[in-house]
Amino acid sequence: NIEPKAKPKWLRVKLPTGKKYTELRGLVDKYKLNTICTSGSCPNMGECWGEGTATFMILGNICTRSCGFCGVKTGRPETVDWDEPEKVARSIKLMSIKHAVITSVDRDDLKDGGSIIWAETVQAVRRISPGTTMETLIPDFQGIERNIDRIIEVNPEIVSHNMETVRRLTREVRIQAKYDRSLEVLRYLKEKGINRTKSGIMLGLGETEEEVIQTMHDLKAVNLDVLTIGQYLQPSKKHLPVKEFITPEQFEKYEKIGLELGFRHVESGALVRSSYRAQKHLL
Ligand code: SF4
Ligand code: SF4
Repeated sequence: NIEPKAKPKWLRVKLPTGKKYTELRGLVDKYKLNTICTSGSCPNMGECWGEGTATFMILGNICTRSCGFCGVKTGRPETVDWDEPEKVARSIKLMSIKHAVITSVDRDDLKDGGSIIWAETVQAVRRISPGTTMETLIPDFQGIERNIDRIIEVNPEIVSHNMETVRRLTREVRIQAKYDRSLEVLRYLKEKGINRTKSGIMLGLGETEEEVIQTMHDLKAVNLDVLTIGQYLQPSKKHLPVKEFITPEQFEKYEKIGLELGFRHVESGALVRSSYRAQKHLL
């Protein structure tokens, strides 16, 4: 693996093009729709939008947590917008999104952890854009079952929760989260009948190969279906530094190991984000 000086060539991406992309870009700008794809300037927009996939963030854009890798603002969140489920569903309909990934900031300030808005959003999308399938990328809800149950009750096609990193680095990378609690959330979702569970980790934060493989075993033990593995990139100088750039060969090795372990899908590559090629994970 390569010392983090200049960005290696496999991380340089082409500007997104294509008819579908241009069309969506126009709609998003015109109606000021809120997608993670545009706010995070994701390198995969051309590909995802071309396939009719986009990621939406709900419950505002200020998070109660302060993970060391994340570009989202931390602080006191806005009050809940009860019209948000409708607004998101209308955006999805307007953009003719075939498969929507929905995620949120963490709302540890709310008794329900935001789970009511979550459930209403899934229901609003079903009502307003019935042809759209959904992946909900949820927070840990502090492991509180009655909040997780609200997601399970509306039964999105895929429910994901990201581990983000290996056990040893969890404290540093996502300070208010716990490795075992996240595993338990994934176990609970599957036990309660969610069809597809999914999780993701980022590499390049100083983890060893052995630790990555251990995390894969831990995820297999909770019957996870889909695993994504990507390169961590520092959103700003204030965030955790990139310790190394993982080579394409190493990503391939992890993919192979994951498939041998029996995951249904493994997406492993430098530009992989948890919502990358998300539509494929329905199969
Ligand atoms: Fe959007 Fe996710 Fe695709 Fe990036 S990887 S363009 S955030 S859906
Ligand atoms: Fe970012 Fe999620 Fe951590 Fe909040 S909980 S800081 S949105 S990664």
